[in-house]
Amino acid sequence: MYDLHIHSTYSDGSASVEQIVKKAKEVGLKAIAIVDHSIEHRYGLDERKAKRRQEEIEKCASKYDIDVLSGIECGIKADGEIILPRFKFDLILASIHDFLYAEEYYHRIIECLKNNDFDVLAHLHSTMFGSLNGRILEKDLEIVDLLIERDIALEINTAHSAPPSDFLELLSSRRIKYSVGSDSHSLKRIGDVSWGFEMARKYLKNGEFILKL
Ligand SMILES: [Zn+2]
Ligand SMILES: [Zn+2]
Repeated sequence: MYDLHIHSTYSDGSASVEQIVKKAKEVGLKAIAIVDHSIEHRYGLDERKAKRRQEEIEKCASKYDIDVLSGIECGIKADGEIILPRFKFDLILASIHDFLYAEEYYHRIIECLKNNDFDVLAHLHSTMFGSLNGRILEKDLEIVDLLIERDIALEINTAHSAPPSDFLELLSSRRIKYSVGSDSHSLKRIGDVSWGFEMARKYLKNGEFILKL
């Protein structure tokens, strides 16, 4: 199993890089991604912290013999903008962290998909953040087309139970790339990804996991 969405003490998580990697090994994960929040938050991962975290990741990955990706989660701001520190990450996630009216929600996501290079669209249509006045089917279909065209993975996020099954149903015949993550901010949820892989088996029969399995 893989858990490609974990927060550490480098942003708002409560576990250190070493604690995370050790726990991931204990629960039998093959690879993880540590993805701290970006600099739209004052506690986010700036260039200096990204470098320090990278050193810790490399040390722990070899100590515990497990693949650890160095990632970041960027909030999608007005007009689809994402803000990144100057650093080369293995995995860049983008996601909405606001409650917005549907028009604005879709506008941000669609502009973000069109104009940025990133790897994973995270927790789409989460009920913790999201569209305040429902969903728009034609815009959902536009998102699906853009994900495929731009070769960006869709995340199945077990903390947010997102995307919902009616969105995943739109993908059953499509060759979409996907990722799965627990979005854990503490040690106890690391590796809580079974629901995500179950959803992928059920709805994404023609999909392809973002890492080589
Ligand atoms: Zn998030
Ligand atoms: Zn997150």
